Amino acid sequence: MSKNRLIILLIDDNLLRKEDANVLGCKYIYYDGEETFFKELNKRIRENKPHLVIIDHKLDKKGVSSLPKYGLSIAQYIREKLIDCPIIGFSADLEVLTGSIFQSNYEQELVYDDSFSLDYVQNSFDKLRALARDFNELRTRATRIRTFDGIMNLIVAPKEDRELLKKTLPNSILDSLNKRKKMDILIFAKWIRKLLMANPGFLYGSLDAATHVGINEKTFLRPKIQNLFKKAIYTGLFTKSSPNKLWWASILRKIVFEKTTIWGADYSWEAGRDIIERLNKANYSRCFKCKKFYPETVGFIELSSNKRESLHLACSEPHPYRKTLRFFDEPRMMIKD
Ligand SMILES: [Zn+2]
Repeated sequence: MSKNRLIILLIDDNLLRKEDANVLGCKYIYYDGEETFFKELNKRIRENKPHLVIIDHKLDKKGVSSLPKYGLSIAQYIREKLIDCPIIGFSADLEVLTGSIFQSNYEQELVYDDSFSLDYVQNSFDKLRALARDFNELRTRATRIRTFDGIMNLIVAPKEDRELLKKTLPNSILDSLNKRKKMDILIFAKWIRKLLMANPGFLYGSLDAATHVGINEKTFLRPKIQNLFKKAIYTGLFTKSSPNKLWWASILRKIVFEKTTIWGADYSWEAGRDIIERLNKANYSRCFKCKKFYPETVGFIELSSNKRESLHLACSEPHPYRKTLRFFDEPRMMIKD
């Protein structure tokens, strides 16, 4: 299937968005709560076989009483007909859809493959298109994969991480490998996007990566330094649709310890500074709380926000609400005085 022929289906109860859908080049179904909607939906599923469905979570047109009224029920209906098709829920009120920062909405997480704000759907459609492409690439490549290494090649995982990564894989994926069956690509995609790429541990975003090699984020993002750590950049599936660049922590460490001149250096944040030329103190990472050098970790600074900063272990404590995922970094929280 060529890139251009990927079909994205948008379902909404606001006719104004029909125009948006046309501009974006996706198919549109207007939800009016009537039988005609289901006829149209079935036709689209049969004839278009969409590669990605984007659905308004709060469809509230009241129609024939026996019809499901909400995005979630319609998503479930589509899921039964198109087992490999990712379904994205969107809402102007993202908290309704995803839950609060601390309490995720499990039911919706089970049905939707991802959730975005209305704003994101309208303004970052290129990312959604990239997401459809990434899912399609997974769908195409996964049909031939029957081994663990085949799976690891999809994410271009470093050799040294593979055994630990295996321990984080969902049982159903391991089970299909054991039985040499085709894996469920939506479950596998969730593992990549919602576990591996979303939680620091194996992969780091720029702040964690910078802290890990002892410099601040701004310095880390300089082209010359980017080049130094190029081999650590994540290039596996879902790179194109990812909002942020990611780095393999194990390769960052490997680069640092291979190049350092500090004999017996124990810490990557010490050795990292040593391998970068022409740094001064303004380029070093500092603890957000005490402002001193060598913060070992990155943690949340407010309970009620997602904002994170570099912190010393001693200036932080385990986060009271976020649970530690096995084999991933422990979520930390700045200690308040
Ligand atoms: Zn500190």
